Amino acid sequence: MQIVDAVKNAQQKLVKSDSARLDAEVLLCSVLKCERTHLYTYPEQSLSSKEIRSFDELVALRAQGHPIAHLIQKKEFWSLELKVTTDTLIPRPETEILVQAALNCIPNETPCSILELGTGTGAISIAIASDRQLANITATDIKHSALQVAQLNAESHHLNNITFVKANWFDIKNIDTYDLIVSNPPYISNDDPHLVQGDVRFEPESALVSGKEGLDDLYIIITGAKKHLNTNGWLLLEHGFQQGKAIRQLLEENNFSTISTLKDYSNLDRVSLGQWLS
Ligand code: GLN
Repeated sequence: MQIVDAVKNAQQKLVKSDSARLDAEVLLCSVLKCERTHLYTYPEQSLSSKEIRSFDELVALRAQGHPIAHLIQKKEFWSLELKVTTDTLIPRPETEILVQAALNCIPNETPCSILELGTGTGAISIAIASDRQLANITATDIKHSALQVAQLNAESHHLNNITFVKANWFDIKNIDTYDLIVSNPPYISNDDPHLVQGDVRFEPESALVSGKEGLDDLYIIITGAKKHLNTNGWLLLEHGFQQGKAIRQLLEENNFSTISTLKDYSNLDRVSLGQWLS
């Protein structure tokens, strides 16, 4: 079978996906270890029976709904390729807004200390570290398996200014105070209907769901952060699109200043921040 036919067949099997053609191409590239341009440059290249078998397996899993990032075990974030497994949340494009907001709070040529809570693949810390060589970052996760993935990702990008620590939110051994605390915690309500649709079905619930209103972990982080921020330090949080008001209110009740909310690419509330002045 030739590349062109393999892609066409797979596209038909993936009709339920709204990106069937792209899915088919990305999966075939992962089997052939090539770029997508290769498929268009050599459409008549024949596939070996082993390649066809591997491709068919991936297409069948995709047809069942498994996320592309799990099938090819990687995802691009902040122009960095990251390893992804079923132990971690798949990094989302909107989380880059959180990274940009964090970078805006961190001077370029000045050392600063950062704490990331719930790092998953390490995406946020790795993106910050790659743009701020003088940052000294501690990144936590409650899951050992996630920390292993994050550590591998940091190593593959040759970053040695991130220390990975197993911890439940602020329950960190030898906890310090920081210039910036950042987190994309779980924030989906436990009865949100989206949990039974699409990619999230295959992601760890511990990275997604946080109580009745989706605010349980955000509450722990906001109330706990002030004890661990240096004067003028920043707290930056990703949250659900309907949680902006609640988060701003929580920041205010906890005496944060300079509070604001940033919109995501769909113009929805997604990231809120506040500064600790005292
Ligand atoms: N943004 C993710 C989603 O809506 C959720 C990530 C999270 O809970 N931190 O699927």
